[in-house]
Amino acid sequence: MTLIDETTTVPSGGPALPQVRRVLTSLPGPRSAEVLARKADAVASGVAHSVPVAVVAAGGGVVVDADGNSLIDLGSGIAVTTVGNSHPKVAAAVAAQAAQFTHTCFMISPYESYVDVAEALNRLTPGDFAKKTALFNSGAEAVENAIKIARKHTGRQAVVAFDHGYHGRTNLTMALTAKSMPYKSGFGPFAPEVYRVPGSYPYRDGLTGAEAAKRAITLIEKQIGAGNLAAVIIEPIQGEGGFIVPADGFLEAVVAWCRDNGVVFIADEVQTGFARTGAMFASELFGIEPDLITTAKGIAGGLPLAGVTGRAEIMDAAHAGGLGGTYGGNPIACAAAIAAIDAFENDGLIERAQQVGRILVDRLNGIREKDARIGDVRGHGAMVAAEFVDPATGEPDAALTAAVAKACLAEGVIVLTCGTFGNVIRFLPPLAIGDDLLNEGLDVVAAALAAA
Ligand SMILES: *Cc1c(COP(=O)(O)O)cnc(C)c1O
Repeated sequence: MTLIDETTTVPSGGPALPQVRRVLTSLPGPRSAEVLARKADAVASGVAHSVPVAVVAAGGGVVVDADGNSLIDLGSGIAVTTVGNSHPKVAAAVAAQAAQFTHTCFMISPYESYVDVAEALNRLTPGDFAKKTALFNSGAEAVENAIKIARKHTGRQAVVAFDHGYHGRTNLTMALTAKSMPYKSGFGPFAPEVYRVPGSYPYRDGLTGAEAAKRAITLIEKQIGAGNLAAVIIEPIQGEGGFIVPADGFLEAVVAWCRDNGVVFIADEVQTGFARTGAMFASELFGIEPDLITTAKGIAGGLPLAGVTGRAEIMDAAHAGGLGGTYGGNPIACAAAIAAIDAFENDGLIERAQQVGRILVDRLNGIREKDARIGDVRGHGAMVAAEFVDPATGEPDAALTAAVAKACLAEGVIVLTCGTFGNVIRFLPPLAIGDDLLNEGLDVVAAALAAA
């Protein structure tokens, strides 16, 4: 076991980092263990972690820890470092902006980079109509503001979210989020006027898109009433809930019903946005034009930034001073977003997401054909999941899923689980990963499943 010598300089991140899987210690190694022991003493227990390492560098397709272990990254910090960790364009833009000014508060004295990001979002989001944008710090904050805007615009209060939906951890977004553990349990009471209806989960409900939409719309009309409804919010592909891709026609039908009834349709693209699904936005895959789109995660290559973008007349419903926040659209985060968006648009990253997706789907389907414990492989672009089941009953197998994820980690591959039933492994590699490393990571997943 060779440990990185104390005197060795910490490897620098970004694409220069050697693109290798290297497991020198059991995880956590001794140096990481020290940091994690201090974490246990100093950091609130509610802030848990799934990969027991202390990170010192990351880039391309790897994350390097304090003991010199180099792990293949198939999670991108939950779909955030899509462009790559410490991407050179992002790192340079952040450094330059940090030297120039770090903050003014856009509500006090504005700056151009915020406007640049707004213009880019207005241009890149689907829909050939006049749009406007407001920037915030996190996905949850963007969702909160989209709901505020929709309520002000419609003068109505009710909001519909879906089974398996995930929208964040603040009070309103906990109400919108479906899953109790770990997101909601014990944290109520939740915000009122939030209603949940079933969506479309073809693998489990067997419904066509039209049937699933009819079921949802009937419940909305009978239990809430269109005249009371401000907004419907949905992730075009549900993330946390299990990478659930709705059946064809489902989203189109819900959007059409919203339009007929003066209801604001909000696509929560916090996880699916920015090339992740092999399109700039997942809404494009389904041919829908949402009234409002929320973005965050992949937008700024790792810097905290979020946006609400949508029809200008809806976005302008809020009175002056009604939207904002001290840090929303921070200049360093905006500089990072401009650099990341430049890479998404000009460095072929949409095509790269499609290539990564083909590798993921081919490899996972290859395993599924021989192993019925993988019940379903689904996703678009570099957002692909495998759902693990008991082959005899089709019931979710969360224990197997956890065992596979744990075995992958021990072999130096970071995979994330998700799903309402905890039986889904989601693959969200950074688009800066090479094919070799991606395939090596999938070899490890295959071996972990075979051994489980
Ligand atoms: C992660 C996520 C959020 C919450 O974003 P935060 O930045 O963690 O607040 C909201 N919606 C979706 C779809 C997400 O995946």
